[in-house]
Amino acid sequence: TLLRVAIMGLGSYGTRVAEAMVDSKKAKLVGVISGTPSKITAWQAKYNIPEKNCYNYENFDAIKDNPDIDAVYIITPNALHHPQTLRVAAAGKHVICEKPMALNAKEGREMVEACKNAGVKLLVGYRMHFEANTLEVIRMREAGAFGEIKFFQGLSGFKIGDPTQWRLNKELAGGGAMMDIGIYSVNGARYMVGEEPEWVTAQETKTDPVKFKEGVDETIMFQFGFPSGVVASCLSTYSMSNLDRFFLNGTEGYAEMQPSTGYGPIKGKTHKGPLDKPHITHQTVQMDRMAEIILEGDTAQVPVDGEEGLKDLIIIDTIYKAVKTGKKEKIKLV
Ligand code: NAD
Repeated sequence: TLLRVAIMGLGSYGTRVAEAMVDSKKAKLVGVISGTPSKITAWQAKYNIPEKNCYNYENFDAIKDNPDIDAVYIITPNALHHPQTLRVAAAGKHVICEKPMALNAKEGREMVEACKNAGVKLLVGYRMHFEANTLEVIRMREAGAFGEIKFFQGLSGFKIGDPTQWRLNKELAGGGAMMDIGIYSVNGARYMVGEEPEWVTAQETKTDPVKFKEGVDETIMFQFGFPSGVVASCLSTYSMSNLDRFFLNGTEGYAEMQPSTGYGPIKGKTHKGPLDKPHITHQTVQMDRMAEIILEGDTAQVPVDGEEGLKDLIIIDTIYKAVKTGKKEKIKLV
């Protein structure tokens, strides 16, 4: 059986996911939710989507009466994830939601709760958890190849263009670079180190307050401390191209990845040699595995559910707090 998916939000990433899903053996695009009729028509033709599986943002609650859709993949601007997840859950459909799962931990908690109460799964589009070289580094770390882990560095950024886009609008984005790209270093620090951070310090710099308005962060540096004594040093920015690097070091060796979270291929090496697992389109593998998780209940320790998305939001809330206070802030993950 296939996971029958409707995509909500036919923008640039929605388009990428749809194209990747064509090659998925377990998930199939069968429906769309969009506010733009011309896009719906184009997608219907391209993906052979029947009229009865097409919805807009006003009427998509009716998806509850559609037995031919199992899950909705929400790929809209960040601020919409929370209200849309609540509506999809109320319609009794599984939710796959893009990162960041919501604007803050309060919203994230409500989403986890709503999906639990509705008896539907909530997964977050953390595609790196399915990427072969990333998984190889995690496997090596678990096997002790790096000895005791001591340090992680995560650098995540790109140079953002058009100043009018939603990513630079606090209401729709919930913040700036941290919400959009810094989150890769937040989530990455957790899976590369294999522990949850217990404190954070953070500093913000802003070189262009016209483009990056109040509440929209341009660059934030942040540092984590982990229970075992591991420390991490990370940077999130909207002002540097090609900033996409993870570095993990232990008492016996290291792993470095650059690019580490881009669409791939992911490249890098460890003290033992190159990371050379073949590249497969991330979103194709992600959809295959998410279909298994949803349909077969196979969670196999893949940390991409709502609770994981919520942990990142709690950490990001605490990073923003640490920027304000200038103090070392405790991260309370429960
Ligand atoms: P986008 O601007 O290209 O697409 C957003 C879509 O939402 C557009 O089609 C737009 O018409 C629609 N939309 C619906 N209601 C809207 C409203 N009120 N205001 C503005 N647009 C509205 O953005 P995108 O790059 O596709 O990003 C969408 C989501 O996907 C974001 O949450 C982003 O963080 C996430 N994303 C994830 C990855 C990844 O690798 N996992 C990559 C890119 C984007």
